[in-house]
Amino acid sequence: MFTLRKGRICPVCEKGKLQVEIMELPFVYKNRTKKIPDQKVFVCDVCDYEGLTDVDNKKVEKLLADFRRTIDGLLSCGELESIRKGLGLNKKSMARLLSVNEKTVGRYENGKITQSAQVDKLYRVFQAAPFLTTIIEPSISSSKFETSVFTVAKDNYIPELAEGYCLQGFQADIEDQEITANAA
Ligand SMILES: [Zn+2]
Repeated sequence: MFTLRKGRICPVCEKGKLQVEIMELPFVYKNRTKKIPDQKVFVCDVCDYEGLTDVDNKKVEKLLADFRRTIDGLLSCGELESIRKGLGLNKKSMARLLSVNEKTVGRYENGKITQSAQVDKLYRVFQAAPFLTTIIEPSISSSKFETSVFTVAKDNYIPELAEGYCLQGFQADIEDQEITANAA
């Protein structure tokens, strides 16, 4: 793997030497501009090559992902991570809950890929009503989840059923959880 360093031969033209410049990087998304100030950039003194270190690249990638998400009304990388952790779920369980690939959740959180509007809404739903996680994915176990269920049971929370929607199984699940919670 090529490591960027001042004075190294340019990886593109293989003639120039890499110099370090501190510059402002502007990014445009849907007519809005985000400027990343004071960014260390490696530039070639012969060709147009400009490069960032892997660490800086990841930071910028995450910043830009959040910039685009804010404009699109989606949850940020940090918000997705804190919702997942708030549910007491690891990435693998979260992926199972969302029916996405195991690595996808990590990629949402580091900004490599952006969650769809549908996935974004699911995060918000699970955040608002954590007990839904085990109704949708009964195999998921979460250390924090027991607490959530207990709170739900204690407050006598009864989910309102949508009209014309038969939820025999749904109610049975709620009762089971109450029993578990009270026993704990
Ligand atoms: Zn070059």
